[in-house]
Amino acid sequence: MIVLVINCGSSSIKYQLYDMPSKIVLAKGLVEKIGENGSSLTHRRGEEKFEINQPIPNHKTGIELILTNIVGSERGVIASVKEIGAVGHRIVHGGERYSAAMRIDQDVLSCIEDCCDLAPLHNPPNLIGIQECRNALPDVPMVAVFDTAFHQTLPREAFLYPLPYGAYERYRIRKYGFHGTSHAFVANRAASILGKPEQTVNLITCHLGNGSSMAAVRGGKSVDTSMGFTPLAGLMMGTRSGDIDPAIIPFLMSKPEYAKVSDVDRVLNKKSGLLGISGVSNDMRDLQEAATREGSDSRAALAINMFCYRVKSYIGQYLAVLGRVDAICFMGGIGENGVLAREKSLSGLDNFGIILDREKNKEMVRGKEGEISVPGSKVKILVIPTDEEGWIAVETFHRAQ
Ligand code: AMP
Repeated sequence: MIVLVINCGSSSIKYQLYDMPSKIVLAKGLVEKIGENGSSLTHRRGEEKFEINQPIPNHKTGIELILTNIVGSERGVIASVKEIGAVGHRIVHGGERYSAAMRIDQDVLSCIEDCCDLAPLHNPPNLIGIQECRNALPDVPMVAVFDTAFHQTLPREAFLYPLPYGAYERYRIRKYGFHGTSHAFVANRAASILGKPEQTVNLITCHLGNGSSMAAVRGGKSVDTSMGFTPLAGLMMGTRSGDIDPAIIPFLMSKPEYAKVSDVDRVLNKKSGLLGISGVSNDMRDLQEAATREGSDSRAALAINMFCYRVKSYIGQYLAVLGRVDAICFMGGIGENGVLAREKSLSGLDNFGIILDREKNKEMVRGKEGEISVPGSKVKILVIPTDEEGWIAVETFHRAQ
């Protein structure tokens, strides 16, 4: 079956076309700057790359352009759109309703719409993506794969905030967690690597990238995660603060430069994290370069140390939550390539049976998968390149049958 995976943002559409169940990527690409000047499509077929610069006024044109380019001999890989057997949509928020991917029907659409309040930047463009694909491919089954679904197994004591209970009942304020497709894929893959059934493995999964989150996985199910009501919570990130004392918010708002809700929102989401502390960049590679240049007292070095300190603190928290841990898994741009970040985050954990092999750690970069712990380490340490699109394709393939 040919499966098209769509990730629709407010001004962009990412896509990958898979041959399933072999999971071979036939083509992929990105539509950018929809409705803006300089809009374009970058389309890849194997090693070939095509740049198409043209006005793309809306998502409808974007989807049509994708479909035109995946068909035919010039840039395409299939003879007709009729070959597409299903479309999988990445949906950020499924609220409390869905703990698994769902075949899209009126009920699912209503739920995604209902969750726009909880994810105002993401669910509305996700809905537009579904609508435009349905218009273009009316007879093809569509599947929604939710970023929140994997974390719907959190117990109440983990997902509730100690606010008045009415905040949960009336406004649905609770921990939802995100990056679910990445944590789910890596948990599944880790079980295979460990040679154990997924329902028996306990894991700490660390998705470390520009956005970062961790999950405690018991018997293959998420029982806690670091992101919360929104993706702002938890670890320090590229530009997001992660956990801070909530009283900082009203305090900041009493100052003239942060008086508006939008000012605080911007500072917490766009001006904090690695960028906020270093003053240099939100990118870990830039910080490593700056720290090498400017020394261990620099703010770039401090930002790296703070990032790793928080990863280590969450590892400690999830060790306590899980009791027994089979493996700690690293994924995401920093998790998969950040030799220094992994080493710092895991330093001093030998007494917990977590012992890094520093040589193997150095080798595990650029898409390599494998173990980086010493043979005697009670808790294995794994690097697993994440594959969110591939996981969406797998879920779509199963639900569309
Ligand atoms: P992502 O959001 O998953 O694409 O991850 C982006 C982050 O990964 C950025 O902070 C990059 O600096 C970081 N990253 C990518 N490659 C490396 C590398 N070789 N060493 C350290 N960090 C890296």
